Amino acid sequence: MRCIGMFLVMSLMAFLVACGGSDDGATPAGSSGFVTIGTGAVTGVYYPAGGALAKLINDRRDELGLRASVESTGGSVYNINAVLSGELTVGIAQSDRQYQAVQGLREWQDQPQADLRAICSLHGELITLLAAVDAEIHSVADLAGKRVNMGNPGSGQRANSEDVLRAFGLDTSADVSAEGLVAAEAPQVLQDGRLDAFFYTVGHPNGNITQATSGRRTVRFIPIAGEAIDALVAERPYYAHGDIDVSLYPQADNQEAVPTFGVTATVVTSAAVDEDVIYAFTSTIFDNLELLREMHPALRGLDPVQMVEGLSAPLHPGAERALREQGLIE
Ligand code: GLU
Repeated sequence: MRCIGMFLVMSLMAFLVACGGSDDGATPAGSSGFVTIGTGAVTGVYYPAGGALAKLINDRRDELGLRASVESTGGSVYNINAVLSGELTVGIAQSDRQYQAVQGLREWQDQPQADLRAICSLHGELITLLAAVDAEIHSVADLAGKRVNMGNPGSGQRANSEDVLRAFGLDTSADVSAEGLVAAEAPQVLQDGRLDAFFYTVGHPNGNITQATSGRRTVRFIPIAGEAIDALVAERPYYAHGDIDVSLYPQADNQEAVPTFGVTATVVTSAAVDEDVIYAFTSTIFDNLELLREMHPALRGLDPVQMVEGLSAPLHPGAERALREQGLIE
């Protein structure tokens, strides 16, 4: 457990050094030789995953004529909107949020985002509910009357938390004391006793859950399962069942894998981004998958065939060219 925590802290530091901020680039953002990558909270998986992608690019910058920088952001919804407005070149976003943006649902209700383009999928993400043992929460139903972090506006998880509460007949505003903290703050606030539980849709292992399970207040993962969840997963094209491997967090109270459901992290861009830039970006990912898998434990399972699945936006022409060359699409 120490090892994983240390590994995450050290890799985070290495990425911070290797990638730098967006303002150290010699080429301005928006020009064709520069890629800005929108991620999430620094202790999640998006940030180190984005850092890994940026490192692959920057290690080959002369050959590619491309440089990359990584930015910590509010998460999926923020990244989709920032990519569409041209503020970011690419962004990491949950597969369900990509679907909703394309279909004009949730945050994009009646406003389908026709310019959103897909590049590929990355790791799986599980809807993770962590609660303080002393808060006496054993199931989602026990969240009634508790202080629960649902996720910040702009995050991917906020809609997942709402879906879970609704499936259990709980109203977000009436039945729980709902908070909108960014993911990076939730572990400390839980440890301080100012939160009873928090939701986070994230790949495992990650620094956030390691931090939340390493404090003096003992915490446990709450199963998100049962008939109502089976119905939800059956009804939504983007949800799939999955188990959290609690052995990744030895200080958590749980002893056995915890059932829940999840989505996939995906990489998106805008139709307005240059084809050659996205071609070079996508080719670099798929040419170096072996290296990418070693850069973060949550990326270890990356599989090229699965990485072209779970996309609802049309492929960006640059990604399409790269994936065809890789023999992954027709
Ligand atoms: N799934 C989260 C979101 O979309 C981010 C998780 C992470 O940063 O790894 O906001």
